[in-house]
Amino acid sequence: MSGKANQLHLDTRAIHAGEPRPRIRGAITQPIFQSSTFEAGPDTGYHDLGYIRLSNTPNHASLHAKLADLEATEAALVTASGMAAITTSLLTVLHAGDHLLVQDTLYGGTHNFVTEDLRTFGIDHDFIDAREPGDWEQKLKPNTRAVYVETLTNPLLQVAEHVAVASFARAHGLVSLIDNTMASPVNFTPALLGYDLVLHSATKYLNGHSDIVAGVVAGSRTRVQSIKQRLDHLGGSLDPHACFLLHRGLKTLGIRVRQHNANALALAQMLDAHPRVRRVYYPGLTGDPQHARASTLFQGCGGLLSFEPETDGDAAQALIERLQLAAPAPSLGGVESLITRPAATTHAGMTAQQLQTVGIRPELIRVAVGIEHIDDLRADFEQALAGLAA
Ligand SMILES: *Cc1c(COP(=O)(O)O)cnc(C)c1O
Repeated sequence: MSGKANQLHLDTRAIHAGEPRPRIRGAITQPIFQSSTFEAGPDTGYHDLGYIRLSNTPNHASLHAKLADLEATEAALVTASGMAAITTSLLTVLHAGDHLLVQDTLYGGTHNFVTEDLRTFGIDHDFIDAREPGDWEQKLKPNTRAVYVETLTNPLLQVAEHVAVASFARAHGLVSLIDNTMASPVNFTPALLGYDLVLHSATKYLNGHSDIVAGVVAGSRTRVQSIKQRLDHLGGSLDPHACFLLHRGLKTLGIRVRQHNANALALAQMLDAHPRVRRVYYPGLTGDPQHARASTLFQGCGGLLSFEPETDGDAAQALIERLQLAAPAPSLGGVESLITRPAATTHAGMTAQQLQTVGIRPELIRVAVGIEHIDDLRADFEQALAGLAA
């Protein structure tokens, strides 16, 4: 489908782009090539050998083409996890002596990698508030090489000034990287705004079924090629069976993400109107301070929302335990609703002072809204909130 695929709608491309033509033995669904190694001619270069670690099996090839098509980039690469995509990309773009500008509210794993691991490679960083372009220029150094942000932050759903980030990077010759996990290409295609590298934890919406861990890097052919060569050495490649599951999940990406968008908005509206809820964080709400920016940038705001019930951390924990449908577990982007209290789970390593600085109250509840029927989800939250002491 290459060539004309981009003229088709995303739902069609998710199904047809990158599929092998002619079909392999006529198979409508691409078979799994569970073979670690493949015959090679005498002149094959190392990085082109057919070998699972070198991400060269037919399962990798069709997935790469489909993902590049969906993210509107020349090329894409799948990795063994979202963190493998993020770390391998940063370790390719940055070298000893370089400086990185990063958003101050990163995904925990990324935050730890930037603040703990990159330092040991001689790579320095400074934080920016990606919503406020005012002081970015002051933070530039002669050795600044790249800027790294996330589409929507977790758990407070901040929306960066994405147009400004991409143009700031271009104006100063920086490589711009964005973690687009929260939006998926259904809601946002950062490459069309000028971002150089688009990263994903495909564990979330792209796969959509909470049954694998995987990652994606998408960008120009040259950049993706150099990241692939680094991945070939670091070894964080995706196995063919996981490729097959991700490939299958991608075919329903559009229909799933639109349902996540609709369910999260409806649940956010119900919570926002509830007398026992102090605050809802969801930029899809018209009253959200970031609503205007989000509506300009995104087709939808995704399935993640957070809210503060009018109570303390312990009662918020009890509220979570009263829910029948939403399971208490980290992660997001699967068909089933999941719920966490960040202060007790994902952000438990932070002190009370640090939590306060980043705006995470003990009673904050994060909901990864699934695609169950919205009436059932609303009823479940109604009954759980009704149990709060007067
Ligand atoms: C989950 C997640 C990651 C890490 O991905 P893994 O697949 O768990 O390695 C990175 N960024 C964001 C925004 C995530 O939600």
